[in-house]
Amino acid sequence: MKVLLHACCGTCASHCVMALRDYGHDVRLFFSNGNIAPDSEFHKRLDTLRRLADCLNVPLIVDEPDHKEWLELVAKGFEQELEKGARCERCFRYSLERTFRMMEQQGLDMFTTTLSVSPHKHTPSIFKVGQELDRERFLAVNFKKEGGFRKSMQMSESLGLYRQNYCGCEFSIRVL
Ligand code: SF4
Repeated sequence: MKVLLHACCGTCASHCVMALRDYGHDVRLFFSNGNIAPDSEFHKRLDTLRRLADCLNVPLIVDEPDHKEWLELVAKGFEQELEKGARCERCFRYSLERTFRMMEQQGLDMFTTTLSVSPHKHTPSIFKVGQELDRERFLAVNFKKEGGFRKSMQMSESLGLYRQNYCGCEFSIRVL
């Protein structure tokens, strides 16, 4: 299957690309992260993902970020939520909806996300959002299974990739 993989960062994407290829999929990366602040951090993570895409020879599509829109549509009224709370589920929906639309635009078969590789993310919430968008075409893979998170860390370290210490939005800088 031709799969569009929403990628939050290079570290998480490393293991996810390999796992999807092991399942026999043809993978494209999609960097769509209107949640990331500040702007310099967005570009740091994008540069890292570009390096990974080059190393693994995987196509990368970049979505133009609109953090102001993200603040308005996702975070407004949910600023005080902790990670894994209600703001995060809204954030998953924002990015996955864009991934779903890009999959359709590109004529691909399925979509999924690297978000499930992180122990800081609530996988059932990610799957719920993906399946609400399209039950048939959301590929519900729990990438953290079978040591997925550890494998991403190891791969990231061996490739010398940048690894951030907060999830992405300005509200996560103080909660982690
Ligand atoms: S903590 Fe992470 S998942 Fe939650 S809203 Fe912020 S960027 Fe999104």
